[in-house]
Amino acid sequence: MAINMRPTKNPMPTQDPKVRAHNFDEVTLGYTEEMAIDEAKRCLDCKVPSCVPGCPVQINIPAFIHEVALGNFEKAYQIISLSSSLPAVCGRVCPQEKQCEGKCIKNKVPVMDPVTHKPTGKFQEPVGIGRLERFVADYHRTHTCVAKIEIKKNGHKVAVIGSGPSGLTCAGDLAKKGYEVTVFEALHVAGGVLMYGIPEFRLPKAIVQSEVQGLKDIGVKIETDMVIGHVLSIDDLMTQYGFEACFIGSGAGLPRFMNIPGENAKNVYSANEFLTRINLMKAYKADSDTPIIHPRSVAVVGGGNVAMDACRCALRLGAEHVYCVYRRGKEELPARKEEVEHAEQEGVEFHLLNNPVEILEDLEGNPKTNPNYGCVKGIKIEKMELGEPDASGRRKPEPTGNFTTLDVDCVIMSIGTSPNPLIKNTTPGIETNPHGCLIVNEATNETTKKAVYAGGDAVTGAATVILAMGAGKKAAKSIDEYIQAKK
Ligand SMILES: Cc1cc2nc3c(=O)[nH]c(=O)nc-3n(C[C@H](O)[C@H](O)[C@H](O)COP(=O)(O)OP(=O)(O)OC[C@H]3O[C@@H](n4cnc5c(N)ncnc54)[C@H](O)[C@@H]3O)c2cc1C
Repeated sequence: MAINMRPTKNPMPTQDPKVRAHNFDEVTLGYTEEMAIDEAKRCLDCKVPSCVPGCPVQINIPAFIHEVALGNFEKAYQIISLSSSLPAVCGRVCPQEKQCEGKCIKNKVPVMDPVTHKPTGKFQEPVGIGRLERFVADYHRTHTCVAKIEIKKNGHKVAVIGSGPSGLTCAGDLAKKGYEVTVFEALHVAGGVLMYGIPEFRLPKAIVQSEVQGLKDIGVKIETDMVIGHVLSIDDLMTQYGFEACFIGSGAGLPRFMNIPGENAKNVYSANEFLTRINLMKAYKADSDTPIIHPRSVAVVGGGNVAMDACRCALRLGAEHVYCVYRRGKEELPARKEEVEHAEQEGVEFHLLNNPVEILEDLEGNPKTNPNYGCVKGIKIEKMELGEPDASGRRKPEPTGNFTTLDVDCVIMSIGTSPNPLIKNTTPGIETNPHGCLIVNEATNETTKKAVYAGGDAVTGAATVILAMGAGKKAAKSIDEYIQAKK
């Protein structure tokens, strides 16, 4: 097969930024079959592929891309699904630039000048692995009718707490081995952050639900509205309900705040609350029972994926100005490059190297005379400059003493989250580190309590979908080994 020598990726078709900034439809539209085949032919099919170790679940990337290049899309899907249970999700939200694509050999192949045939000093773009993964998963979902498979049960019961990517992956792997798996989810819908955090325009919820349905089809039971630690404890599950092992994938949903003056004013949200109202409760729809502010002007504090999602949701609610306030510079923004670009294209205004010091509250008159009494009326921010690297290795932002005020009626805090302490507080024997993350044995993902395993954000703190999936996979393997060894 002839290799396509084009140095750049096939661009991803997207909705026009001016149009999409006002709707919740998916921003990226996906490759056509022709585009996918064309992109797949850029793969050099390396003998020792560096992309595979770059993938936390070790998908056989060259093999699936080879099948795409041949037009064998379903075969490509079967290869991916040997390693990943959520390819339509990962193809959309994984930080490929830091993982598989970041390791692609093409990043080291120089771009040659077409006239002089000498190197231009630039390097080629990696193969669009994420875009191809998404294409293959979408092709499978829309073209393949999957026959329901009956898996022989092995008579052992495992409980999974939390239905985010770690819990779903662990549940799926165990169900495929014949375990009777029940997932207990606190919310009324399964999917974790994929449902309540990441917006529809980046990850359509129908896709997440079709992945959840795939698990139900192989026998996984999902019990929603079950807050473990309130309704039942882990000890109840293991002593009264006959579960032999438990996996905790309860995520890191507890928002952090800055503890600055004015943070208790009305219309200061945590990003989690703001996004949950929009994504899970569909507050942007006229017929939703959940209220949400339709802000005139918003400051979103933080620079990660969550902050970008909050900024872009605020735009879609009709805000005239959405300011992203981040204390470091553009280079240090933790969000995916593509998300930052999309946010910029849609009109988010970045106030980089700025740190909030106070949220200004409207305290004129009293609540009877002033309907906005107690509401946000601005945010005071301080210009920062970058000093020496700190413990994280990034240059530390230092205050300069120069202040400005942004005229806003809403502030969204997006400066990180921690695991909720509920499970730790209600499960004797479970230990956490000083950040509230569950302590596990790195080799097995077993917690400090026997037969109780954990993974994902509950262990690492806020991280990524693919790392959570990797942890769910590892824990499923350990749980299987533990239960089989008991026999
Ligand atoms: C807005 C946002 C955008 C993001 N964007 C990206 C991105 O683009 N790419 C990326 O790779 N990552 C992204 N992430 C991070 C990624 O979503 C998480 O790392 C991942 O979802 C963690 O998976 P998890 O299974 O550990 O937990 P979660 O997805 O948080 O799921 C945990 C589940 O456990 C449930 N639960 C909690 N406590 C209990 C209890 N006591 N009993 C029962 N159930 C409980 C919760 O309701 C939740 O459904 C984003 C995160 C957010 C918030």
